[in-house]
Amino acid sequence: MKNRTTWWLLVACLFSPAAPGAETQAKLYFKLAAGRAETRHVALASRGGVQSLRVAKGNIPPGTRSIEVHHPIATARAGEEGFYVFCNGMYGTFQERPSGSYRNPHQVMDAFGVRTPRGAMTVIVTGLRYEACQMVDLRDGVYRVYPRFELNGEAPYDDLAIEFHLLDGERATYSDMARTYRRFQLGRKVVRPLKERVRDNRELAYAAGAMMVRVRMGWKPVPSPAPEQNAENEPPMKVAVSFERFGRIVDEFKKQGIDRAEFCLVGWNIGGHDGRYPQIFPVDARLGGEAKLREAISKAQAAGYQVVCHTNYSDAYRASQIGGLWDEGYLLRAKGGSIVKGGQWGGGTMYQACPKCMYERFSKGDFAKIRDLGFRGLHYIDVYSTVNPRACYAPGHPLTKEGFAEWTRRIAADAQKAFGGFASEGGFDYVVSNLDYGLYVSFHVPGAKTPALIDRHVPFWHLVYNGIVLNNPYTSTTNYTVKDPTARLKLVEFGGRPMFYFYSKFRDAGTNWMGDRDLTCTTDEELAESVCMVKRGYEEFEKLKRLQLEFMESHGPLADDVFKTTFSDGTSIITNYRAAPYEYGSRAVPSMGYVVVKD
Ligand SMILES: [Zn+2]
Repeated sequence: MKNRTTWWLLVACLFSPAAPGAETQAKLYFKLAAGRAETRHVALASRGGVQSLRVAKGNIPPGTRSIEVHHPIATARAGEEGFYVFCNGMYGTFQERPSGSYRNPHQVMDAFGVRTPRGAMTVIVTGLRYEACQMVDLRDGVYRVYPRFELNGEAPYDDLAIEFHLLDGERATYSDMARTYRRFQLGRKVVRPLKERVRDNRELAYAAGAMMVRVRMGWKPVPSPAPEQNAENEPPMKVAVSFERFGRIVDEFKKQGIDRAEFCLVGWNIGGHDGRYPQIFPVDARLGGEAKLREAISKAQAAGYQVVCHTNYSDAYRASQIGGLWDEGYLLRAKGGSIVKGGQWGGGTMYQACPKCMYERFSKGDFAKIRDLGFRGLHYIDVYSTVNPRACYAPGHPLTKEGFAEWTRRIAADAQKAFGGFASEGGFDYVVSNLDYGLYVSFHVPGAKTPALIDRHVPFWHLVYNGIVLNNPYTSTTNYTVKDPTARLKLVEFGGRPMFYFYSKFRDAGTNWMGDRDLTCTTDEELAESVCMVKRGYEEFEKLKRLQLEFMESHGPLADDVFKTTFSDGTSIITNYRAAPYEYGSRAVPSMGYVVVKD
């Protein structure tokens, strides 16, 4: 009994709230070179409900592998009240369960939230942000939620800096935490609400009220039978949708009464999708060539649609040598000088390119030519907004991760200027200042098993950025009208802008990350059937599209498998994932359905 009392005293001491007026200290664990370690206690500066920590880069020992920052609020015993929410939407509670750890692999924002009996806060990393990983671990019955700065021996290019925005320790929800970060982003003018931005931007205004419809036109086999392609061994390109056939899609949209859509042509360029980047031109003749593309764009625009296209500046293929554009000089270099290979795509082996070189050599000229073809709207550049910035060690064009971010933002800003908007693959913060649309915010599949220490997936990103960045929430919500009802409910619950994709499947082997069901248009029957499925999305979105311009103010469960999402105009959506109807006031929310209410 005595031992037990001593243990509880010890724990009580560890977890007791600081006395009023007492300074708060963060505990920093430095993992140094050669297996050494160091612990520092650093007093936090405090001002107006925000505590802050700064470690000057000169005070970070050379060769540091990682630095964990532990705030006294962010530790809890298993069984205590509270929760943690990471920027990728992964949410967990301090329930009793086996020990484990979770490292958020998708640092889509520089913020996360935590609430324990000792307080609640939104944690915002403002210095060394690209090195910060959001972590939770559970050991010996104690949860710890913290950022870990993974330097891996690199010299820091910036001070380590964190702001802890303190919230109501008893009532703060993840919605409060997200709103805190939204205010922070709006306050420092990193982002502006769509409502303001659409006023003087016709293309953005159109896009905010229109579904995204991607059409994959052509591609070479994936994975490639010729990893390093040249004029002799370049594989043939499959033509799925020629420019003329795209005109038939437009006709069918009109015929079925779809009046608004933003089309994005994918693989219109030489060699099709991922064909020969950074070579884009000439427009592929097998799809009809430039004259037919111009006709197709004009036709779609005359019918009232917006048309943009897909390009890429992060990936380069040796196949670009066919057009005389391959040059190892523009590739990103890893530490030690090696070039960095990615996967196998249509163009063969993918090599990472340096954004500074891409900006200086390609993007400006490409944008002028692409604009001249007639494309206007949210111009899509693949990859950038779904990856963390990468350092480049090429002697002629070195970049820190911050440098990578800056050059990427320049490319994005030029796209906004040339076309009216910039779209990319995800919702990463480093480029959010110039991002108008994220193709998929999360690769998590709703309903799939969550990682260790994670209870469920919540719209944390959307609570921050709905009404600021248009988006589709999940890869699995692509073509949602041909998917299971969960995809539809998740799209609506998370405030998504519907995204349809003709020929989303194109790999000969491996997984189809947008799901196995697809939209095709090989025959006129297939075309009519596919457009009919798009029409369902159109009709649904017509009733909800106004919410694209509103903030998502709150989200949470009303009961098991029933959620309420509330927007800044007072509209709420109740989504019911149960097998039976759910009574909401006087309304019955159907099983696997939703109702829209104004309370
Ligand atoms: Zn470089």
